[in-house]
Amino acid sequence: MDYDAIVIGCGPAGSVAAMYLAKALGKEKVLVVDKAAFPRDKICGDAQGRKAAAIMKELGIYEEYTKLPGQKIYGITLSSPNGTQIHLDVASRSEPAPGYVHRRMVLDNFLAENAKKAAAFRIFNVTDLIIENNIVKGVIGNENGQREEIRAKIVLAADGANSLVAQKLGLNKNPPEHFIVATRQYYKGVKGMTDRIELHLIKSLIPGYFWIFPLPNGEANVGLGMIVKDMHDRKVNLKEATLREIKENPLFKERFKDATPLEDVKGWNLPVASYRRKSFGNGLLILGDAASLIDPLSGEGLGNAMISARIAAQIATEALQRGDFSEGFLKKYDTLLWEAIGPEIKANYRLQVIGKKFPFMIDRLMVKASKDESFRKKVEKLLPYTGGRKEIGSEEFLTNLAEKKEVEKMLAEAP
Ligand SMILES: Cc1cc2nc3c(=O)[nH]c(=O)nc-3n(C[C@H](O)[C@H](O)[C@H](O)COP(=O)(O)OP(=O)(O)OC[C@H]3O[C@@H](n4cnc5c(N)ncnc54)[C@H](O)[C@@H]3O)c2cc1C
Repeated sequence: MDYDAIVIGCGPAGSVAAMYLAKALGKEKVLVVDKAAFPRDKICGDAQGRKAAAIMKELGIYEEYTKLPGQKIYGITLSSPNGTQIHLDVASRSEPAPGYVHRRMVLDNFLAENAKKAAAFRIFNVTDLIIENNIVKGVIGNENGQREEIRAKIVLAADGANSLVAQKLGLNKNPPEHFIVATRQYYKGVKGMTDRIELHLIKSLIPGYFWIFPLPNGEANVGLGMIVKDMHDRKVNLKEATLREIKENPLFKERFKDATPLEDVKGWNLPVASYRRKSFGNGLLILGDAASLIDPLSGEGLGNAMISARIAAQIATEALQRGDFSEGFLKKYDTLLWEAIGPEIKANYRLQVIGKKFPFMIDRLMVKASKDESFRKKVEKLLPYTGGRKEIGSEEFLTNLAEKKEVEKMLAEAP
């Protein structure tokens, strides 16, 4: 049977795209495939912010989402290279939580279950695309080792950071300064956990960071992420660095003393959006990590993956209505996507570069926020996972922390 749309990958990008597409086109017209059976794990920090919540609301699954086993998040704890630690609350406990930490085993299964209700689903490993006259016409792959071709008018590739589709089309080549690698290790019994996520900006990793995110039942998601170029330049072994921070860093060593790791340290890739990749072709749209849409400052990819899914479904539906699957028309997806996420990516990339070149600014920011309540309130609204952070790398904001001459130098060196 031929479909109107095939979605490759039933992770957050693919399942959200399948739900939007099926709403517009009907269940039998949309097929979503994944090589994995759900529930399946995905190495991640597991934190979701306001962008994910907004999509859940639009899809009508927000109430169920808030009831999934997970931890409500109301704020962020930050520490700077000189060890200054601040606690920022981005919402009051009487308001709906602005963020959640759900294990991806839980979140992705919830999304996949909803995608399966909305659209056709198959466990199917895509190994190639059907391309005729330079137009993508479907997928080739296998189910239980049985080779099969499945045709569709349009294909949406949501096959993650190591996307086969992006590789096939030569679109997967982020330079090492636009590529992050991060680790994850679940723990039980870390002391001093709260309902805030913790981001620790450690000198040897900057602008990368070490995180501790709370989970229910006394568990925590612990990890460390770093730009690949910095990792190579500074000869950092990420797994060793993760374990060293846990054992030796004065901020954490007592907290981890009686904690138990629930798994070995695991690592995975984060292609980041400071490198803008082409995300469309004839008969094809590329979504989420497969299109390198992760925030270069925070490593947050779930929100942008879901936003790309919503816009891709909208443009795929328009393409089907017009019968036009050409690159020329599908470019509209790329335009709308970057209108939606571009300004924030630009601001956060700028901040990432400023943090790396002028790490004293991070110390100054934390010290000022720890002493000056009105400044702290201002910062609370601008942080990763809370939305509205475009302002934080602006000249006006930097002037809070540095002399005019220093600001000029920073702005000259920032992208
Ligand atoms: C260590 C780490 C920590 C992170 N922390 C956070 C965080 O706390 N918050 C946040 O927002 N983001 C975080 N991210 C980023 C986030 O994990 C990704 O942005 C997100 O998973 C992107 O979703 P996706 O649907 O595009 O891809 P994925 O979640 O990777 O899903 C891709 C799906 O495609 C399927 N697939 C792949 N190849 C094929 C194939 N050939 N055939 C069929 N199916 C296929 C896979 O099985 C998978 O189900 C982190 C990433 C890492 C590595």
